[in-house]
Amino acid sequence: MEVVRSVAEMRKRAAELREAGSVVALVPTMGALHEGHLSLVRIARELADTVVVSIFVNPAQFGPSEDLERYPRDLDRDAALAAEAGGDLVFAPAIGEIYSARYDTVVHVQRLTRRLCGAFRPGHFDGVCTVVAKLLNIVRPSLAVFGQKDAQQAAVIERMVADLDMDVEIVRGPTVREPDGLAMSSRNVYLSIEERADAAVLHEALELGRSLHATGEKDAAKVVGSMRELIEAKETTEIQYLVAVDAATLEDVSELADGTLLATAVHVGATRLIDNVVLDGAGETTVHG
Ligand code: AMP
Repeated sequence: MEVVRSVAEMRKRAAELREAGSVVALVPTMGALHEGHLSLVRIARELADTVVVSIFVNPAQFGPSEDLERYPRDLDRDAALAAEAGGDLVFAPAIGEIYSARYDTVVHVQRLTRRLCGAFRPGHFDGVCTVVAKLLNIVRPSLAVFGQKDAQQAAVIERMVADLDMDVEIVRGPTVREPDGLAMSSRNVYLSIEERADAAVLHEALELGRSLHATGEKDAAKVVGSMRELIEAKETTEIQYLVAVDAATLEDVSELADGTLLATAVHVGATRLIDNVVLDGAGETTVHG
């Protein structure tokens, strides 16, 4: 696997590929790759000639009390996994390559970042948008693949790309889950045995919401209330948010409908996990294992 560490080299390799007529896809990640990330690499593999996987633990998207320091890092392992899944090139820049000493610019999507994760992680989406804009400018891919697991992130990136006339197609890949339904996440390794067992309740609650809607229940407050009870019954969980929103605008809905996004962030012990389902988003969930 070719691992590129500098922005200049990445630009050069990407320009060569484009000149040779290769359709390039980018899969941005923070590393600690798991089946969720690899599913995105496989989607990119299907859609493009060359797949670039970026691995960059972006300090700008971590809050001061978040897990930047202890975020899992293993570039050799990640490069091997990315290659196995069909990646052609890993772009793993050092922090100084991305943020120079005089770095001074932020990309801010306004309304879509106010709620859900944005309300609890001030500056997080500025960090995400800024780094994704930079990665897109460096690699200039025809398409970039993001996971539905981070539904707000995908919506915010789609908005940024449309608003700033960026010439790239954004593709969403379905959420990949453990056999018990827990969405795969690099942060799952932080969970104790008890917390890991309790963490499956996020998916159970979302599936409860889905099935209540499927049986005709439309009252969002009622459905969210039932989901809340299920999550709160676990010893180690504390809900940060649990909402029924329009999947495009992320505004609250009082009536559930096809296309409604049920989304949650829950602390399980000290670990913050997020998950979501789109009502009637048939086939959006991939269970692995
Ligand atoms: P991260 O490394 O957490 O920044 O994630 C990189 C990309 O992988 C993002 O587009 C995430 O939405 C996506 N991703 C993370 N976990 C999953 C998952 N379980 N299923 C699908 N995509 C995922």
